Amino acid sequence: MEVAVTSIAPAVPISRDAALRLIACCDADLPELLAAARAAKERFKPGVITYSRKVFLPLTNLCRDYCGYCTFRRDPGDAGAHTMTPDEVLAVARAGEKLGCTEALFSLGDKPELLFPEMRETLRHLGYKSTLHYLEAMCGLVLRETSLLPHPNPGLLSAEWISRLAAVSPSMGLMLETTNASLLAPGAAHDNAPDKLPAKRLRTIEDAGKQNVPFTTGLLIGIGESLKDRVETLLAIREMNDRYGHIQEVIVQNFRVKPTIPMANWPEPTRGEMLRAVAVARLLLPNVNIQAPPNLSAPYYDDLVDAGINDWGGVSPLTPDFINPDKPWPHLEQLRLRTEAKGFALHQRLPVYPEFFPAVTAKPGLLAEKLCAAADDQGLARIKRAA
Ligand code: SF4
Repeated sequence: MEVAVTSIAPAVPISRDAALRLIACCDADLPELLAAARAAKERFKPGVITYSRKVFLPLTNLCRDYCGYCTFRRDPGDAGAHTMTPDEVLAVARAGEKLGCTEALFSLGDKPELLFPEMRETLRHLGYKSTLHYLEAMCGLVLRETSLLPHPNPGLLSAEWISRLAAVSPSMGLMLETTNASLLAPGAAHDNAPDKLPAKRLRTIEDAGKQNVPFTTGLLIGIGESLKDRVETLLAIREMNDRYGHIQEVIVQNFRVKPTIPMANWPEPTRGEMLRAVAVARLLLPNVNIQAPPNLSAPYYDDLVDAGINDWGGVSPLTPDFINPDKPWPHLEQLRLRTEAKGFALHQRLPVYPEFFPAVTAKPGLLAEKLCAAADDQGLARIKRAA
């Protein structure tokens, strides 16, 4: 191997040059790369892989963007187009509460009211000025009425909206996806997706950092980006974290093809590509939580443990993955058994990672109280149910 992984210093992030070489390593060198990544994970969070037991709340699947890989979004009038009512939100959250869930993941399209009069009418009927006002109210409702902690994922946010949502949720997220702006070109993955301009997404991530809001982000693998783009995207996230220290988690998410999407004929990234991307993420960010969703790598998802992840992300015992509805989450008992077979205990965490609690509890109030009530003495989920 051109970069000897044995030369990687413990807990020291690798350089751009090393990352560029390692992400392109040959199959013969892959085991050595994986061993280095797994060792880095063990220095960071030994013996344990975490997951967040969640309910998925697709508050609205209307979206003003048209990402080429998206099965979630709808236009008004499309089959399955839906905006949840407050009663529906509460019913799902309460059902999840009974199953030991501790996270209410709000995923939704980006500002659909800017494009669709139908959404403006729905919001008017519900009594809210915008989708973000409605989201804020629903996060507040779940926070007040249940033991679940909201984690909103609503797309681009202004500094003001980050502040408002941070008052009703301990963490939030926005995938950077890629730093390659040429993917907005005609025919590319982000054609007609103005909210996917990398500079705008970095601005949201930076604004969250300035407010010390625990933030989840990540990259997509296989949407037309190059190996170099993957490294540059990870480096952009690292730079944000170096400046503000608020990146609680980096998701490495692989593109999966679906028959109904504009990218229906695109190749999926190979298992080897995914392992290299995860391993390089771990070595670039040795002290950051790295997550990869198991349902998108089934049936071989446990290989991701070998590449240095320390978290499986949100897994629901109740609601389907509305973003990838044809990829069911592994049954939690299976996830536990396969994690243990790899030599790790599976622990349930909260949507905000333990090391980021001080950012939330520093502001007294209902959110801090609910977080403390939900956490055990290690900052993981206090209430745990059998899988
Ligand atoms: S990926 Fe997100 S922003 Fe893109 S179309 Fe789907 S819901 Fe909209």
